[in-house]
Amino acid sequence: MKKVRASMGTLGVLGLEMIKMDTPPTTAYLQIYTEKRCNANCQFCAQAKGSSADLKHIARGMYIPYDIALVVSRLSMAYERGYLARACIQTALYNTWWWDTVHLIKMIRENCSIPISLSVFPVSNERLEVIKSLKVNEIVIPLDACTPELFNMVKGKSTGGPYSWETHLDGIKRASGIFQKVGTHLMIGLGETDEDAIRLIQELWKDNVNTALFSYTYIPGTQFEVAKRQQSEIIRHFRVVQLARHLIIEKLAQYRDMRFENNILIDLGVEEDLLLSVIEDGGAFQTTGCPDCNRPMANETFSLMFNFPKKPEDGEKEKIKRELGLKSSILKKDIP
Ligand code: SF4
Repeated sequence: MKKVRASMGTLGVLGLEMIKMDTPPTTAYLQIYTEKRCNANCQFCAQAKGSSADLKHIARGMYIPYDIALVVSRLSMAYERGYLARACIQTALYNTWWWDTVHLIKMIRENCSIPISLSVFPVSNERLEVIKSLKVNEIVIPLDACTPELFNMVKGKSTGGPYSWETHLDGIKRASGIFQKVGTHLMIGLGETDEDAIRLIQELWKDNVNTALFSYTYIPGTQFEVAKRQQSEIIRHFRVVQLARHLIIEKLAQYRDMRFENNILIDLGVEEDLLLSVIEDGGAFQTTGCPDCNRPMANETFSLMFNFPKKPEDGEKEKIKRELGLKSSILKKDIP
């Protein structure tokens, strides 16, 4: 493998592309290089075998093929100078994916000690042990969907792909046993309710699984598009899931403390003052996932922010409060 794909933002930080950035990435986002389509068929993914979308897309990001030796040597310099704090490697399922992934990890490790995250589908325990021995710091197995039914619809057996909800959960559990901690990605907005997402986040957290939230983004040429909903509902749902996740991870509340009406969150189960201070702090709305991962503009546009790559500013926090749409009594100090 002589090439690797790197996100445009990453190439900007590495000094390989001229790109103007409001907030540069703090993690280098890489993907193993192939011109083949993935053997899995996740309906939202540009690289899936049934997709006709541009292979360079991962969500909104463009991942450009570059010389692997050049990227790895610049990555090492950027890490030493404090511009990047992590390298995140995305995989895809094709005949040589395992050897290409190991090759890239080894090349990075021979050059520097930057923390590495590997985002991969479930693999055998033997391969998990190899990944660990290569000093990969975080392993992430994306579930993407919040319920077994949605999983089946967007990436499970019904898509003709190799995955199932059960084998993904099993893969996450085995990885957690070997790495002690494991991450997963949830794509919010595939049709799950507030309660589906929050219940799953709690269940996973109980098993030491950290969830990173993404918002579903339609990519032209992919095989799936969520039925159109009002933008206010899309963002309300994302914000309440973000906030509930933060309360759960910070041990400020649990799913069982929260109340739902028709699966819509109506009470986060914490005192108003605490809730207001969490919202005012803004950290609940920042990008979630591995340490030092800020994923600027992975799914966002300047007019529609889901994850903030840094703490939101005052004006942004006012907007967040309106987007949350929680009962005004909960936010009575801020919303007339
Ligand atoms: S949370 Fe960030 S660094 Fe971790 S796997 Fe996901 S994109 Fe990569």
